[in-house]
Amino acid sequence: MKLVEYEGKEIFSRYSIPVSRRYAIIKDKKDIENLKIESFPCVIKAQVLAGGRGKAGGVKVARNMKEAVELASRMLKMKMITHQTGGKEIVVNELLIEEGLEIEREMYLAVTMDRKNSRPVLIASSEGGMSIEELAKEKPEAIIKIPIDPEAGLLDFQARELAFALKAGKEIFCSLKELAKNLTRLFIENDASLAEINPLVVLKNGKLIALDSKIVTDDNASCRHKEWQNYPDRESSDIEIEAKAAGVNYIGLDGSIGCMVNGAGLAMATLDTINLAGGSAANFLDVGGGATVEQITKAFRIILKDPKVKAVLVNIFGGIMKCDNIASGIVEASKNVNINVPLVVRLEGTRVKEGREILDKSKIKISQASSAWEAAKLAVELAK
Ligand code: GDP
Ligand code: MN
Repeated sequence: MKLVEYEGKEIFSRYSIPVSRRYAIIKDKKDIENLKIESFPCVIKAQVLAGGRGKAGGVKVARNMKEAVELASRMLKMKMITHQTGGKEIVVNELLIEEGLEIEREMYLAVTMDRKNSRPVLIASSEGGMSIEELAKEKPEAIIKIPIDPEAGLLDFQARELAFALKAGKEIFCSLKELAKNLTRLFIENDASLAEINPLVVLKNGKLIALDSKIVTDDNASCRHKEWQNYPDRESSDIEIEAKAAGVNYIGLDGSIGCMVNGAGLAMATLDTINLAGGSAANFLDVGGGATVEQITKAFRIILKDPKVKAVLVNIFGGIMKCDNIASGIVEASKNVNINVPLVVRLEGTRVKEGREILDKSKIKISQASSAWEAAKLAVELAK
């Protein structure tokens, strides 16, 4: 799960990592009307899950109340494309307003997982800010990496080496060491896969402040973190949220062929096969090993909610699940859901002959295919 900046900063505060004073969280127009700001300048920041907001107009400074209201009104609900959104527009649904600070110097500090070395790694650079990606490419030697023992955390000598490497003067030397240790502890205790501060700034008055936060947690650890349930799901689409509630494994994709498959492995193979046939899938959907009529009905409903879907491909391998049961399920489901696009079905496995007969005898318009490859080609053709 990815947290937005202000949620990340709340966690920073709990770990004594200093952040700017927060003035407001804006979620709708009313919040702008009731806005109170204690001092200026203030900074207005789009709370979206992608980085690169600064360069995309998602971070603005206001010098007075009039400017703050104008900017907030303009930024709320604005659509944004950053270099991390893959060309897609994202909508700004929340704004964070906090005090504007006078920056002396920007650094980069993060803890993430180093999969190659099977342990966390602290990554830092004395040249932080908005162009860290370019720095990593052009001057990789400017990036400091310190391996971390997850049991011991960041050791004192490592924190000292870090402070030297970041050319910390004596006024921030100790606070920087503490901050790096705290960020490491935060990373481990919160089962994060990333805890990033970019930029970590030194102010004109010599104080250290985390000006931005990016925390990503590992969903596999959700059983250990009841508190995660309090965060809104900002990553899933409406259809994905509905699918989750229905107990269906569904992930929306960009293509035009809706897929219903049993088993995650077969679902992956089906996406590849569709691609090979020159098309692209509108979703990943695994109905699971023992799909019932209700589940097949739900799955059809969910697939057909997506207006991008121009054809549906059902690819089922009957193992424990028998093909005739699946076929009856499809026939039953078609009575409950209006399947208004071409439907291609490929059944294989246990009791396949009986299954195909059921589909043949039914009144619904189905194109049956005898292999996954035939089915994919047919679906791609029909989706055109
Ligand atoms: P990102 O571009 O999505 O990573 O957004 P950041 O939160 O990192 O903000 C981008 C840039 O805005 C930072 O690198 C700072 O240079 C600038 N910025 C953010 N807050 C302040 C502030 O309080 N004062 C000043 N002067 N600049 C700020
Ligand atoms: Mn940043």
